[in-house]
Amino acid sequence: MKLSEYFLPLIKENPQEAQIVSHRLMLRAGMIRQLNSGIYNWLPLGLNVLKKVENIVREEMDKIANEILMPTMQPAELWQESGRYEAYGKEMLRIKDRHDRDMLFGPTAEEVVTDMFRGGCKSYKDLPKVLYNIQWKFRDEVRPRFGVMRGREFFMKDSYSFDIDEEAAKVTYFKHHAAYLKIFERMGMKAIPVRANTGPIGGDLSHEFHIVANTGESALYYTDDYSYAMADEMHIPEKAPTGVKEARGIEVGHIFYFGTKYTDAMKVKVQGKDGKELVPHMGSYGIGVSRVVAAIIEASHDDNGIIWPEHVAPYRVGLINIKPGDAACDKICNEAYERLPSCLYDDKEGSAGAKFAAMDLIGLPWQIAVGPRLAANGNVELKNRKTGEKQELSLEAAIGKLYS
Ligand code: ATP
Ligand code: MG
Repeated sequence: MKLSEYFLPLIKENPQEAQIVSHRLMLRAGMIRQLNSGIYNWLPLGLNVLKKVENIVREEMDKIANEILMPTMQPAELWQESGRYEAYGKEMLRIKDRHDRDMLFGPTAEEVVTDMFRGGCKSYKDLPKVLYNIQWKFRDEVRPRFGVMRGREFFMKDSYSFDIDEEAAKVTYFKHHAAYLKIFERMGMKAIPVRANTGPIGGDLSHEFHIVANTGESALYYTDDYSYAMADEMHIPEKAPTGVKEARGIEVGHIFYFGTKYTDAMKVKVQGKDGKELVPHMGSYGIGVSRVVAAIIEASHDDNGIIWPEHVAPYRVGLINIKPGDAACDKICNEAYERLPSCLYDDKEGSAGAKFAAMDLIGLPWQIAVGPRLAANGNVELKNRKTGEKQELSLEAAIGKLYS
């Protein structure tokens, strides 16, 4: 992509409304723009990262679940059936259609997926089943804040499992647990699983996955080897291990086993092996895909801007033509642009300082800069965004270094 054609509205000054670093940097780097409280436009650079995160989640989920796509709009009847329509409260955005029927913008999809399951699975032979989708959710949060970290409309991966009994359901639960650790590791993140309160969703087994960051909304208590980690003070048992450390965390995922809460309420039964009917055991598992983008920035930035981990970087290389119009600079840059598979090419006029600052701000893992002095010798400057390490070498050698 050439910068001259790219929609990348950068902001030099710190935006007043942004209180945390990820929100500031997402605005400054032209990733998002607010449309309304807690509702954002995703601009090309932001959408690119959102898709990278989404695809890592999808690749790992495809190993343990079936992808489906459920609508954002849901009928109120299903929530009346489960008993959550009133209980969910003001976070649910309620809407009436033209026939005066009660609808809602889905904040989660236990009811929809349970209804779908009961229409399609009738026997123990149909179990287990794990279904997931990656879809926009809406929760009318009382205090939307910190940009996409706590939005009203946000992008979530949610999966739902159906098993014949508690034991089988817990096997599925721990498959998700393992998949989540893999997902965050692939993004270059260390996520800590912590035992959590199941809250209004019910059930008896739940873990939250947190990325440690000073700006996190949750208090975490853990031991050095993470063998013990809890999400809130209420959960610390009377005999907590000594040396429990305290930190702040950002909740990026949450998994629950809740038994037959919804299958009971919505009267879901399948035929068991012995001919008797059985009620499937369920779990649900969320990852806040759009929140993850902000959490990565909280965990990986410096004073100059974002530092994208390789696998979620919008482009791998930022190519800077320091003097567009200079024949030698243009020649090397054009060749580099053709040969680099994932490259954002700054082909615009501008001061060298501004160009370097912009590249640092958007945080691509590598920069290749080409100015007249270097170009005259057929050389480029290769910089690693994270370490700041710079090296003068031929284009050939730079490409070799990046792609060998
Ligand atoms: P929180 O405790 O942060 O309010 P939650 O417990 O209500 O989240 P879940 O129902 O567990 O959220 O949703 C699954 C995941 O979706 C969360 O782990 C989080 O990463 C993400 N998420 C939840 N609410 C929001 C929001 N308002 N904006 C962005 N992401 C969100
Ligand atoms: Mg939660």
